[in-house]
Amino acid sequence: MATSYDVIVIGGGPAGYHAAIRAAQLGLNTAIIEKWLNEAGEPAYGGTCLNVGCIPSKALLEASHKFVEARDHFDEIGIKIGSIKADVPAMIRKKEEVVGNLTKGVAGLLKSNGVTTYEGKARLGAGREVTFTAHDGKIEDLTAEHVIIATGSVPVEIPPCPLTDDLIVDSTGALAFTSVPQKLGVIGAGIIGLELGSVWSRLGSEVVLLEALEDFLPPADQQIAKEAAKQFKKQGMDVRLGARVTGTEIKGKKVTVSYTDAEGEKTEVFDKIIVAVGRRPYTEELLSGDSGVTLDERGFIYVNDYCLTDAPGVYAVGDVVRGPMLAHKGMEEGVMVAERIAGHQPVVNYDLVPSVIYTHPEIAWVGQTEQALKSAGEKYEVGSFPMAASGRAMASNDTAGLFKVIADSETDRVLGIHIIGAHASEIIAEAVIAMEFGASAEDLGLTMFAHPTLSEGLHEAALSVSGHAIHVANRKKKK
Ligand code: FAD
Ligand code: NAD
Repeated sequence: MATSYDVIVIGGGPAGYHAAIRAAQLGLNTAIIEKWLNEAGEPAYGGTCLNVGCIPSKALLEASHKFVEARDHFDEIGIKIGSIKADVPAMIRKKEEVVGNLTKGVAGLLKSNGVTTYEGKARLGAGREVTFTAHDGKIEDLTAEHVIIATGSVPVEIPPCPLTDDLIVDSTGALAFTSVPQKLGVIGAGIIGLELGSVWSRLGSEVVLLEALEDFLPPADQQIAKEAAKQFKKQGMDVRLGARVTGTEIKGKKVTVSYTDAEGEKTEVFDKIIVAVGRRPYTEELLSGDSGVTLDERGFIYVNDYCLTDAPGVYAVGDVVRGPMLAHKGMEEGVMVAERIAGHQPVVNYDLVPSVIYTHPEIAWVGQTEQALKSAGEKYEVGSFPMAASGRAMASNDTAGLFKVIADSETDRVLGIHIIGAHASEIIAEAVIAMEFGASAEDLGLTMFAHPTLSEGLHEAALSVSGHAIHVANRKKKK
């Protein structure tokens, strides 16, 4: 007889483990099935995010940023340290230690919340029957009142750049280089390309990013994207737009990449290539023909606003469903679904999912961009404030970037907040809170911000919507 649960979660990434823990907290008899094996062949929770995504990339971004600060900027603030050297294997070991601690932490959280764990593969059949295949091949039949699919995503591969063991790699391979490639090619100047390109550029690689689109960072506000392009160029990253990769050829330990751009056909030789052209939903061997779950034309599991699939009692959350492929979006969906199963009525506010690119300067935004509002014919006012005018930024010797607040012309309600600058990833939380509460630019202007902080830039940008900023020349007529 099949073992029965109130809830079975398939996938233990951020979306799945949040769903499982919240369901267990709400008193539901919950199991989670996760198939991930780490480098050592041990089962690991946390999915892409903890194992090969958010956390390891941030560990390397932080280490490489500190290295650049010490190498290039300490003497500007009166710290003399002589010559310094990056110990890449030590950085990788530290990154792995952080990953190990966090993935074990998630296993501990699941256990302490009373979630039953199954380590191996799940396949969903009709009527919420789940076939579990353990890593040793043992099969077990399970069943549940509710199933939550959280099987995530995997990197997109493109025919001109077939992956190899160590020369042409995806993001996972790029998080594990043990030495600095002299010349690094990155296919795709999106979020992963910019973050991982930054890591290796800071550690000494000559980095060339080949981006198929003509525009740089189209999802970001284009004023911010322009500033970002300027900063990355200053750092030595060579972003080539409108560059379509047509092929790769490996000769010895080098890769020749062929691509076409506005000037015609070109080739360039690299020591390593990172392919970072997006991710796709992962549902391989997950659904039996009669599961009742359907996919959309792009391979995402089809769900409604509450993450319910076409099969009764079966939900799907995280990267495997529509919406931005971000850990925090999946976490909120996981919690929403668990609470709805328990009879609560929460919703996810998809209009206010913050986006962050953890380069230096960091780029963060929430809400609408100026170009989107313009093309929708909306009437809006813009306030901005340069990081260079912030006392705290000056004291920190880190003045690149700006704040931008966009508000509705008539109601003054904040429609979008965009930041490029140090700690933008932290400051954006203030913007999300303000917008969740429907703040106007005036509300932000009337709020007291501690001095001296970088957040004051958000205050000044909000004040500047109506021409009241104190620390910049106001071009607008004061209201
Ligand atoms: P995943 O994390 O992909 O987890 C899915 C899990 O399901 C996996 O563990 C998989 O083994 C398991 N699984 C799949 N099929 C089965 C099956 N049949 N049976 C059992 N288990 C199964 N997002 C951010 O918000 N911030 C960042 O800074 C950030 N940085 C990133 C950096 C990199 C290099 C990458 C690659 C991604 C990054 N992301 C970031 C994206 C983030 O990792 C994903 O959005 C997030 O992990 C999605 O969570 P998920 O739970 O939906 O899926
Ligand atoms: P992306 O969509 O951000 O960028 C991919 C880029 O590759 C795009 O600019 C696209 O135009 C370009 N591209 C596509 N095909 C190409 C080709 N053949 N040649 C050249 N360029 C090509 O995707 P990504 O950087 O791979 O990241 C995947 C997802 O992972 C992101 O969308 C994001 O959701 C998530 N992620 C988030 C973070 C974060 O939150 N900080 C960090 C890393 C990854």
